[in-house]
Amino acid sequence: MTDVSLDPTDWDEYRRLAHELVDASIESLRTVRDRRVWQPVPTEVKAELSKPMPADGEGALHAFEDCMRLVFPYPTGNIHPRFWGWVHGTGTVGGTLAQMLMAAMNSNVGGRDHGAVYVERQVITWCRDLFGFPEGSSGVLVSGTSMATLIGLAVARHSKVPVDVRGDGLMGAPPLCLYASAEAHSSVGKAIELLGLGRRSLRAVPVDDCDRMDVAALRSMVRRDREDGLRPIAVVATAGTASTGAIDDLDAVASLCSEENLWMHVDGAFGALARLAPSLAYRVRGVERADSLAFDFHKWLHVPYEAGCILVRDGAEHRATFSSSASYLTHAERGLAAGDPWFCDFGIELSRAFRALPIWLTIKEHGTRRLGEKIAENCEQAAYLAARIGERPELELCAAVSLNVVCFRFVGGSGVPPHVDALNEGIVIDLQEKGIAAPSTMRLRGRTVIRVAITNHRSVRADFDLLVESVTALGAARLAPNVP
Ligand SMILES: *Cc1c(COP(=O)(O)O)cnc(C)c1O
Repeated sequence: MTDVSLDPTDWDEYRRLAHELVDASIESLRTVRDRRVWQPVPTEVKAELSKPMPADGEGALHAFEDCMRLVFPYPTGNIHPRFWGWVHGTGTVGGTLAQMLMAAMNSNVGGRDHGAVYVERQVITWCRDLFGFPEGSSGVLVSGTSMATLIGLAVARHSKVPVDVRGDGLMGAPPLCLYASAEAHSSVGKAIELLGLGRRSLRAVPVDDCDRMDVAALRSMVRRDREDGLRPIAVVATAGTASTGAIDDLDAVASLCSEENLWMHVDGAFGALARLAPSLAYRVRGVERADSLAFDFHKWLHVPYEAGCILVRDGAEHRATFSSSASYLTHAERGLAAGDPWFCDFGIELSRAFRALPIWLTIKEHGTRRLGEKIAENCEQAAYLAARIGERPELELCAAVSLNVVCFRFVGGSGVPPHVDALNEGIVIDLQEKGIAAPSTMRLRGRTVIRVAITNHRSVRADFDLLVESVTALGAARLAPNVP
């Protein structure tokens, strides 16, 4: 078949299919509370999903039917009001439609002059304003905070290492070191490895009782490393650790970084967004002093995956780290190849999705006030859950609740039972397999704890009451002597 595109031959049939899929998507979100939070993928389905690539097309009806049968019923669960595992955003109905429009346009936002570029620029400007970054700062949307941190630290390396890193790599550079708290996210270490700085160049700064970086310890580590002939280049502060939601003292870190001429990168994956809630904004004071800030829209702003951002104070340095001079990418003055600066000169990817559209639509639909209220509400729910846990002798709160994360464990009625770690692992697996709720587990100060990270706009207080009841009942059942 020549001169025949991949477009449908029967557009009306396709349109009917599309309406059905939109209806099914919206209906599944409307009724999500009535379903289990999670269910395992059945063995038969896994087998069907292991078949080889088809040479002959099955047609749209058949392909989408397979999708609705084999894939759609088995989501991660983070769309559900009782999903609090790890730190996942909930997504929105508007975001679902936004991703459809994004696909219809299929824009490539590496650069050039077209609508999507202006939407991304507007989103970046909004973020600069939100986080108090100055004129001249830059930003780019990326897949998430892991990628954002890689980019932020690449700019730090370009800026602070006294050799031509782009030309010569790290040859001839002095021995470098960077600092992050012992509670920093694993993506920080990964970025440092990928940048060729070596895992051992990352110093783990001790934390205080509330899991915040000990800035006095940081200061003496920097001094000692300098005395030892090393070259400290950057500090990664965390605004909202994944384990307990702790926020480093960003102001103190910023002051130390400016005294010591260090790059300050903030991992604000979800916590930085606390700035949207008037009652919480003070908690992330100092974020506006960062040299680079990584954060996500797909966690606490509920934009569908993937949507993260890196902001860099010194836009020129940011561009100098990544700009390319390939002639086929030459920026023109007019026409489609105009539109300087191009986003591909601020990051790793050349071809880039229109990530800005779901972000832009989410913010336009709900507004920053409402989105901030939902963030504050999640923190109130964390405090509420902690209070309910405090009322139950069988439950023990294991970390201070500083934001939206609650760590606790079941200890039974009379003294801590043996195998308490395995007991709590078991309770969480029961909760997940029964589809009741999806917290996760974590090791915290030598204990296995149940971790409830609340970045969920669908949760209501009754969901936390149900969690407390269920953990207590499942724990008691597991302790009962006649249960294997
Ligand atoms: C989730 C998270 C990350 C990683 O972000 P991704 O968007 O998953 O790449 C980094 N740091 C913290 C504190 C996080 O919570």
